[in-house]
Amino acid sequence: MNKYVLLSAIILAAFLFISCGEKKASTSLNAMDTFMTIQVYGKKPDAALEKTKERIYQIERNISTTNKASDVYRLNHSEKISVSTDTLTLTKYGLDFAKQTDGVFNPALYPITSAWGFTTGDYKVPSQNQINELLPLTDYSKIQIDGTYINMEHGMALDFGAIGKGYTGDEVIRLLKDNGIKSALLDLGGNIQALGKKADGTEWTIGIKSPWTGKAAAAIKIADKAVITSGGYERFFTADDGHNYIHIFDSKTGKPVDNGIAGVTIITESGLYADALSTTMFVMGLEDAASYWRHNSDFEMIIFTENQDLYYTEGLEEKLKLFADFSSVNVIRK
Ligand code: AMP
Ligand code: MG
Repeated sequence: MNKYVLLSAIILAAFLFISCGEKKASTSLNAMDTFMTIQVYGKKPDAALEKTKERIYQIERNISTTNKASDVYRLNHSEKISVSTDTLTLTKYGLDFAKQTDGVFNPALYPITSAWGFTTGDYKVPSQNQINELLPLTDYSKIQIDGTYINMEHGMALDFGAIGKGYTGDEVIRLLKDNGIKSALLDLGGNIQALGKKADGTEWTIGIKSPWTGKAAAAIKIADKAVITSGGYERFFTADDGHNYIHIFDSKTGKPVDNGIAGVTIITESGLYADALSTTMFVMGLEDAASYWRHNSDFEMIIFTENQDLYYTEGLEEKLKLFADFSSVNVIRK
């Protein structure tokens, strides 16, 4: 046998040995008010997917604001309880992020978002008096953590709507890795998180939705990264005066953000960090978000404005493919 034929045979045998027993599988589920899809590639993918589903439902049971048995519901109704690790981790992270951003990110906005009807879908514009009365109840600095107990004043309430799915994505990826999965793609309602590369060894191509058409406006190739978007278009209502009020809030005024931003996408390793950032950069607006990025450049960012301008951080140059027509395309540099 010619030595090249022999070498090829050895490589083929090694490949077959390595890939032996590795399969693709996928599942979909509804959790956290979101349609989720998970595709995995590896050994025993179905068993890994089953564990993943259970873990997602477990996190939902802990942090739901509406399930009466959840930690968050009970805390929000003034019960003094010892909470799960999920709730404790998210509370600590949320409070740290709030301190770091001087309250632009605020995990205690629930009394305000409820008054606007975002928690029930019964939308209304509250009076300025009502907002003034509720704002003191969103003072996150009054929330104390004592071991596994979380203490807050009567009337205060937590909501992990801005970080829960990013945290869930990280937990799912950890669980998949522990179960021998080397390649996976999670779509948790537009929050995309990739474990490794595709089964064929190439990177995942992720579409980034246009806030205006819902179709892909851009695409990016990633491996081992989260691509997480906050969009005003995802949830909003139109009031009698014709004004659109979105679900992302300025914690200082107690009103929906109205700063010309249509969507913010964050690309970084951690889903939790990306999720916290996507909401925070949206609230900050273009200039403050760019300045925050210059001081903390451990992430990349894409911003769509309502005027159809596109801004992206310089680390994405040559990585981002654009499909849509924008009024302008701008690179945010150091
Ligand atoms: P996301 O889609 O990740 O931007 O999260 C939006 C959700 O986070 C909203 O539906 C609210 O539940 C919550 N939220 C809104 N404004 C803020 C804010 N300034 N800080 C933290 N959470 C917020
Ligand atoms: Mg978020």
